[in-house]
Amino acid sequence: MKAQVGQTVLHCVEGDITTQVVDAIVNAANETLLGGGGVDGAIHRAAGPELLAETRTLGGCRTGDAKLTQGYRLPARYVIHAVGPVYRANDPDVPRLLASAYRRSLELAQQHQLASLAFPAISTGVYGYPQAEACEIALRTVVDFLDQPTSLRLIRFVLFGAQAYAVYAQTLQRMAQADSRLSLLTDD
Ligand code: ADP
Repeated sequence: MKAQVGQTVLHCVEGDITTQVVDAIVNAANETLLGGGGVDGAIHRAAGPELLAETRTLGGCRTGDAKLTQGYRLPARYVIHAVGPVYRANDPDVPRLLASAYRRSLELAQQHQLASLAFPAISTGVYGYPQAEACEIALRTVVDFLDQPTSLRLIRFVLFGAQAYAVYAQTLQRMAQADSRLSLLTDD
């Protein structure tokens, strides 16, 4: 499913983020930046050991923040390592930190004048964030970011599995009905 916000296309797909041919892919990292399971493990495996050698030099990353590295053996030129929060119900810091992880990734992409960026569903695996709530925050943060001029022409959400994809497709459809900045495009 595709939608347009200003000059930027939002694209939701089901797939594996490590194969995406974009300027940068976002990693759902942890504060150590030394690798882990889930999407983090898959990205480190696909990028090769040079990625860990670089992340070791970065001194970790706070929850809600992001850091950029090279992509090494990945098709993507860069990896933006974003640290989302561990989910806790009824803690207002949790949605704030998830939005911040997305915003900091977008800011880094903008600072490097990137045109295309792919996000996974940060915090929705081991970190336990309910998919629908996290999706709402991800899409809203991206759409709000696109209120300002940007180098980004494509922002892709790469969802692992049909269920995660369905959540994004439904949420994007609903948001497009309520938000005049967003218009749905016909998929090709
Ligand atoms: P977190 O610790 O932030 O929850 P996880 O890696 O455990 O990170 O999960 C984040 C999301 O990434 C989950 O929805 C998971 O299904 C998804 N995921 C796992 N592997 C991949 C992959 N190769 N490409 C895209 N998404 C992935």
